[in-house]
Amino acid sequence: MREPTNQSRHTDPIQQIRGKRIGQGILVMLLAVSALSLVNFFDNQSVVVASLLFTMVFLLLALLLLRKGHAQSAAALTVVVMFVCVAQAMWGGAGLRSSALTGYPAVLLFAMIMLGKRTFYIALAAMAAYMIILIYATQNGWRVGTEEPMGYRWLGDYGVILIAAAFIIRVLASDLLALLDALHIQMDDATQSRLQAEHLANHDNLTGLPNRRMAEHYFKELLRLSEQEDAGVGLVFVDIDNFKIINDSHGHHLGDELLCHLGETIGSQLRKSDRLVRIAGDEFLILLPGIAKAKDVEYILEKINHAISLPITLQGETLVPAVSMGVALAPQHGQDFKDLMGKADLAMYQAKADGRNQYQFYRPA
Ligand code: GH3
Ligand code: MG
Repeated sequence: MREPTNQSRHTDPIQQIRGKRIGQGILVMLLAVSALSLVNFFDNQSVVVASLLFTMVFLLLALLLLRKGHAQSAAALTVVVMFVCVAQAMWGGAGLRSSALTGYPAVLLFAMIMLGKRTFYIALAAMAAYMIILIYATQNGWRVGTEEPMGYRWLGDYGVILIAAAFIIRVLASDLLALLDALHIQMDDATQSRLQAEHLANHDNLTGLPNRRMAEHYFKELLRLSEQEDAGVGLVFVDIDNFKIINDSHGHHLGDELLCHLGETIGSQLRKSDRLVRIAGDEFLILLPGIAKAKDVEYILEKINHAISLPITLQGETLVPAVSMGVALAPQHGQDFKDLMGKADLAMYQAKADGRNQYQFYRPA
């Protein structure tokens, strides 16, 4: 059986339900204590009223703890208050014959479900000890109860009933908590699987970069944000130069490593707000938000070109990679993502045609 752990204290649905139930438990107690206060007030039992008001202060404190997110402390305080309330009523009333004794199973159930088996056993031991103290106190004349004194005779009856009720509460609550734990694990697994599936669907396996599916979503979001500051978005279509030759001469494995290296290198030159996507094969797309003029793009592309052209040794082979890039600007060249991609692609082909290892802006003519 589980004691509540730090890990299980997230605001997951099960914890939320627990928090709600603790809140309801405290409210019920508050209502009961308020009603008893009223009855005793009209009965002129000022000492009882004072002690009930004192109890209400602690219950309100428990409610405050719960609101502040300390559900366990709130539940622990509630158990203590419930225990003391019952104890007090028994002491001043009919001792073991007091109707307040019927509150014990509720205290045990609350302790077991909300706080775990350790608190349950502590509460049970405290109840048994208190019942013995009560009888002892009555026998020795420390208290004068309204019940008919019958020595330790009642202790046997009530002790057996309490232990039987505690056993039933303990096993049923254990089953319930085990089921809740299993449900919790299944919910975690399902969430993990969903997140994993989403990640796989939206990311490229090799480089770990977002894939084409994400590109349009990023573009729309960045254009919306850029327009708010009277700027636009630069779309940069990147294609590695002579990648086939690299694959053919050094093998696909090295080609894969080069793709990862270039993904990282381009990414390292971008601002936090920029996005890099692997479109397909040896093609990447860079989305640059907050672009007011072509010069802003040029500055970033110069940096990328410089970083890419640094020699890199992969699998013992030293390469000097190069890329061709084509740029289209939103909203100057349009606002439709597919249309802009076509224009950036066209500009990239122009860069290839002009000798590779360079960038070109889309020219409407
Ligand atoms: P260009 O300068 O004109 O772009 O020439 P290129 O050789 O790069 O030609 P192109 O861009 O058309 O070729 C892309 C190549 O990328 C073709 C394909 O074999 C290779 N490729 C596509 N996906 C992968 C991959 O995941 N890993 C590796 N290693 N190669 C890939
Ligand atoms: Mg290429």
